[in-house]
Amino acid sequence: MKAVQIKQYGGPEELYIGERPDPVAGEGELLIQVKAAGLNRADLLQREGKYPAVPGESDILGLEMAGVVIGVGSGVTGWREGERVCALLPGGGYSERVAVPAGMAMRLPANLSYAEGAAIPEAFLTAYLNLVKLAGMTEGDYVLIHAGASGVGSAAIQLAREFGAHALVTAGSSEKLEFCRELGAEGCWNYREGSFVPWLNEATGGHGSDIVLDLVGAPYFTDHLAGAAVGGRIVLVGMTGGSEVPMESFDLNPLLMKRISIIGSTLRSRSREDKIRLTQQFWQQASSGFADGALQPVVDRIFPWSRVREAHEWMEANRNKGKVILDITA
Ligand code: NAP
Repeated sequence: MKAVQIKQYGGPEELYIGERPDPVAGEGELLIQVKAAGLNRADLLQREGKYPAVPGESDILGLEMAGVVIGVGSGVTGWREGERVCALLPGGGYSERVAVPAGMAMRLPANLSYAEGAAIPEAFLTAYLNLVKLAGMTEGDYVLIHAGASGVGSAAIQLAREFGAHALVTAGSSEKLEFCRELGAEGCWNYREGSFVPWLNEATGGHGSDIVLDLVGAPYFTDHLAGAAVGGRIVLVGMTGGSEVPMESFDLNPLLMKRISIIGSTLRSRSREDKIRLTQQFWQQASSGFADGALQPVVDRIFPWSRVREAHEWMEANRNKGKVILDITA
């Protein structure tokens, strides 16, 4: 089969389409003809050699896809060839075919295209895992979401809205903030205009953030403690702004006095069993929302996979609002 490969670690120019062995559906797995694959920041890092593939899993880029079932492995029940699915992957999405554990496949509602299906798994499962499972989001929570227009941010705003929580977002342009507002953000702050803390304080009537979905990392660490509500949960999910917090001293007072929890979280490194459990819980709660339009996968742009280099450049330049998708058929 054809798959995107990396000549040597480096920039987008190192990507090319070459030949790789065909995958087979092992026990408990489905073989999928991939129609569309989602891009993730992790792919850019893996391409640069900074985020190696999970040991024992495919080293082909691509953590999510949508496609058609073309083979059913032994022991699988409830699936047949021809069904449309999307799924999280440990790797291998940028290719014509991929094998996935049947428990990780989500049946694509008829109203969604393959590109929309490929925009669901990473963004929505990351938002669901961190906001719902780890931070215990409930109605009325003030949820601070950084990089609000990112793939993950666009899903997080929608989940917060559906849970009756207040999504408050930051992003780097007025165009992106308007996009977040349309998705349901109740408050928006352009981080290029200064610290978000005074705005957050005002937006929450002095309450602070019950939850932070932190996709930025180091630059905001101390501001998160300052801006957190009593009992606040800060979930560190991404480090687009860096990992080293510059500080000479660190006051533990707010952490203790406000009973703040800081939670680190990655999805990719979780076990298959964990991912299957998470996918099934999510899909049970969310599939009807995608079918009736209450939840919407947000597709920014679709690139034919022959232009995978441009797709990486687009994301690297922070130009996307929502998900960047590769059309694997074109
Ligand atoms: P994305 O769609 O590519 O969006 C990332 C956005 O982050 C950029 O468009 C940019 O928007 C913003 N950004 C970049 N550098 C920034 C900085 N220094 N300060 C503030 N904002 C900055 O990304 P994604 O795929 O949704 O992923 C978002 C983050 O979540 C990434 O860090 C990714 O690695 C992480 N992630 C983690 C997990 C996990 O399991 N832990 C899973 C999925 C994704 P602006 O124009 O607004 O600056």
